[in-house]
Amino acid sequence: MSIQSLLKKMEEQKRSREDIELINKAYDFSLRAHQGQKRKSGEPYIIHPLTTAYRIAEMRLDSKTIAAAFLHDVLEDYPEKEKELKKEFGEEISFLVEGVTKLNKIKYRGAERSAESLRKMFLAIGEDIRIVLLKLTDRLHNVETLQYLPPEKQKRIAQETMDIYAPLAYRLGMENLSGELEDLCFPFVYPREHEWLVGITRQRRDKWSRLIQKMKPILAEELMREKIKFLSINSRVKHYYSIYKKLHKFDMDIAKITDLVAMRVIVPSVDDCYAALGVVHKLWPPVPGKIKDYIALPKPNGYQSLHTTVFTKGDGLVEIQMRTPEMHEEAEYGIAAHWAYAEQKREKRKLYAHNISSFLDQKKFSWLRQIREWQKEVKNPDEFLESLKIDFFQSRIFVLSPKGDVVDLPEGSTPVDFAFHIHTDIGQSAQGAKVNNKMVPLHHQLKTGDMVEILTQKGKKPSSDWLKFVKSSEARRKISSILKKMEENKNFAKQSGENMEIKLSVRNRVGMLRDISSVFARQKNSIKNISMETKNRIHPVVVIQTSFKNRRELEKIMVKLKEIKGVEEAEYKISH
Ligand code: MN
Repeated sequence: MSIQSLLKKMEEQKRSREDIELINKAYDFSLRAHQGQKRKSGEPYIIHPLTTAYRIAEMRLDSKTIAAAFLHDVLEDYPEKEKELKKEFGEEISFLVEGVTKLNKIKYRGAERSAESLRKMFLAIGEDIRIVLLKLTDRLHNVETLQYLPPEKQKRIAQETMDIYAPLAYRLGMENLSGELEDLCFPFVYPREHEWLVGITRQRRDKWSRLIQKMKPILAEELMREKIKFLSINSRVKHYYSIYKKLHKFDMDIAKITDLVAMRVIVPSVDDCYAALGVVHKLWPPVPGKIKDYIALPKPNGYQSLHTTVFTKGDGLVEIQMRTPEMHEEAEYGIAAHWAYAEQKREKRKLYAHNISSFLDQKKFSWLRQIREWQKEVKNPDEFLESLKIDFFQSRIFVLSPKGDVVDLPEGSTPVDFAFHIHTDIGQSAQGAKVNNKMVPLHHQLKTGDMVEILTQKGKKPSSDWLKFVKSSEARRKISSILKKMEENKNFAKQSGENMEIKLSVRNRVGMLRDISSVFARQKNSIKNISMETKNRIHPVVVIQTSFKNRRELEKIMVKLKEIKGVEEAEYKISH
């Protein structure tokens, strides 16, 4: 990978002179910033931002995003460069770089729940989809070079990629990227299963590839005879990890997987897809129930194509897929490609015009809104909506604890909401807060991606003012209940604590009064008067006159008194 190949790609894409200048500038900046730094592989560091930038260009994202790809690790490694970055590249590129840096702070602890909230957080932080795409391409190169990391790190990153990044890529319609990520991580997460699968599929893959090579010219000739234009006939090899997942549905019987290798026909239009399907079936009869029309009924993530599985004479079953270039691009680049085409249609441009940039250039671009638009066109919106849970996360924010745990809170939440979510004790003793390492008032409104740290003080109590700004019902409920208790204690002390009478019904024994007195002494409470009534009673009654500072002190003493051997009953009342 070199800067020349990226610049060549950009020229092919007919990007403007300014764009090329910007990319050169970002490249130089990155080169200088990472000077002397090496990747774990021993390569110069620049290879990593360069690879990321190249892939962003391949997706035909705007040039600002390509620039951000060059700069995406600068702030992570050199936070002091923030000002310089802003000065040199402006708000928008800095915003993208900061977004990626924020996403790096998230740690994944391997629990199912945390996987889900992490995915949501990704989507929320990526209020700009470009940040998510940058992070996905960054991760792709990182897992491509996993072998250079220590084993423990390999495992953690591979697992995180499988749980978070690959499903996210899939949901965004980037099936191919998703499959690549999974396949790169598969040997690190399930080494034995991977080895086994590679072993049992090798021969079959070879056999199928040869078979498809044989079928290609036959199909090509027939398509030409029928005057159906086609752009290409390829074969695609199914990703290992998706075979592995599929095998679970088939009792791990590899003979039941009929699409290890599939033939892929790219034709100019949707009509051509159906026409080509007819030609295919004329040559080879279809397996009943295996024709899948993902054009009329796209998958929830937007995937479109026609699939069929056919009988070949004597050589077994082969899957054949028909799709248009747009469908192909969309399967490669998902949501990004979709936008490009939506925009092209609006501007009545030719296919393959390079125009995603203008579409994505809008400042403060809310991609959630775009997803909703997109989702309208998907035939199964319920499932799609469910998978993204838009309603849920639009009114939520996602913040981080200093350890990198994700906490989700209602929009407008404050450090106090955060503190009570972590633990009631932290909430009630909150005395100050830091957001992204800067001190903020307790009523400060948190934003998604903020890292929140709570400073506590022992014995500190909540203030009723907090109720005026907290947003979560959890914090509200806890604060109210603590305030109520505090109020009760105050009233208790004022009205009744002064004069309290405790009556104990006892089976008298030697040392009884001494034991009772010592309970009070241990709690540092002094008895004003103690007496024993024995007249006309089965059990004598000990009457104690005392006072309490608060209800808690009273309750503690009552518990201790009941524990004394021979004490049958204990009660208290306010004496006047
Ligand atoms: Mn990186």
